[in-house]
Amino acid sequence: MKAIITGISGQDGAYLAKRLVHKGIQVTGVVRNELFIGTGLDYLGVRGQVEIIQKDLGNANEINNLIKDKRPDFIFNLAAQSSVAESFKNPHSTILFNVHSTLNILEAIRNFSPETRLYQATSSEMFGSVSNLPICENTLLNPQSPYAISKSSCHHLVRNYRESYNLHVNSGILFNHESVLRREEFFIMKIIKTALDIKYGKQDILEVGNIDIKRDFGHAPHYVNAMIKMVEMDEPDDYIICSGESVSLRSIIHHLFNYLNIDLDRIKINKKLYRPSEIIDIYGDNSKAKKELGWYYNITFTKILERILIEYQNNFYHD
Ligand code: NAP
Repeated sequence: MKAIITGISGQDGAYLAKRLVHKGIQVTGVVRNELFIGTGLDYLGVRGQVEIIQKDLGNANEINNLIKDKRPDFIFNLAAQSSVAESFKNPHSTILFNVHSTLNILEAIRNFSPETRLYQATSSEMFGSVSNLPICENTLLNPQSPYAISKSSCHHLVRNYRESYNLHVNSGILFNHESVLRREEFFIMKIIKTALDIKYGKQDILEVGNIDIKRDFGHAPHYVNAMIKMVEMDEPDDYIICSGESVSLRSIIHHLFNYLNIDLDRIKINKKLYRPSEIIDIYGDNSKAKKELGWYYNITFTKILERILIEYQNNFYHD
């Protein structure tokens, strides 16, 4: 069996590649620049077991030729400008790339390889602020950032192609998930790195925006299992993948600082770091994924946090 992963240089791409290789599936990773494929594949020991090719996902001809040539069993479309904060700074490029690349892949599947099954990465950000928690698959979308708007468009495109053309295309609505491979500009890695810098005297304070918001955080290596299960199902569908509970950013920082014996007065709130619009609390209902996909998840975020901290300190951090 053959799979294409777009965004293989990112966090999820690396963990997914490792799982697919272990299942005996031939993996081709699509990157925008062959010279920059990140550290994830090397760190997980699968760099030599995947084919890497450079393509412009925004170019329909390149994608058509790729799909015609490979006729893959599965495509996992993970490539995206994935940061909410960045999307407020660069709304045009975020929306253009995220939506256009997804549409190119759907069109290529429809025209040249209708048997290919697609996993499309969408996001809990699509739901925005909701009055009824937990969020489930049929909660109305209310996107509150350019990133969320781009992912909502991808979600609707996937549904439309599934219903109109009877394709096995699936939208994975993932809530925040973390690992040692998460890029350092994202919240969890940012606070882990800064906490270590404070502990080792390289920095005085941790400066943060609104930390009284709550999010549903999970563990990336477990979440990629659900992506594979979706494309292996007899029928295509959309699934929420989440831990099922939210934790405040403040409690995460406090846990980390206490774990490392750092005074809590090293935390400074900077209102300039607040976002133009912010979701206060969000958590999902993973019962459909557990029941229908047989996906198993039972790990608290404090355990994940400690695990990532130790892994990062041992393998990536230089004190
Ligand atoms: P990530 O680490 O930020 O990886 C994003 C990937 O997309 C990277 O391989 C990146 O390539 C690629 N990419 C970005 N802009 C591109 C462009 N213009 N052209 C080609 N490739 C581009 O993201 P992740 O955490 O693995 O997430 C995977 C997917 O799940 C993303 O679509 C994300 O939006 C979605 N998602 C993630 C989370 C989460 O908590 N992690 C939650 C919900 C949904 P470079 O290495 O070249 O930059």
